[in-house]
Amino acid sequence: MSEELHALHAAVEDRLRGIELRYTGGRRAIVEVLVEAGHPVSIGDIAERLPDLPRSSAYRHLVDLQAAGIVRRVAANDEFARFELTEDLTEHHHHLLCTSCGKVSDITAPVAFERTISEQLDRLADAQGFQPQSHRVDVLGLCAACR
Ligand SMILES: [Zn+2]
Ligand SMILES: [Zn+2]
Repeated sequence: MSEELHALHAAVEDRLRGIELRYTGGRRAIVEVLVEAGHPVSIGDIAERLPDLPRSSAYRHLVDLQAAGIVRRVAANDEFARFELTEDLTEHHHHLLCTSCGKVSDITAPVAFERTISEQLDRLADAQGFQPQSHRVDVLGLCAACR
């Protein structure tokens, strides 16, 4: 296992312990699917990769992993849920969300874009006395296959 991956699993274990949960085989298997996929996955994707894990268990693990701040839900609408590791475990990025088929793609924006958008959002937030910490910008539309 790479040092990076080892550190990730250690961080996950630590966060689970923070809410008094153990890093069980099932939870670990889901984290590994998310790491290997490298993009947000659906429950169906998880079931395909982990055929022996009942869907009900996969759902429960995802709820626990979200509660521990390890996984976040990404979705174009209520119909299409996708799951990915939180940004502080991976890297800051944005999403393209297809409202027709639910496909989610990650997009990493150029540094100049991030600088501009952060400055603009900081200014807007500051005008309301709000202290910004991060932002989420997801693009809704139709993927190449659906358009
Ligand atoms: Zn689509
Ligand atoms: Zn950004």
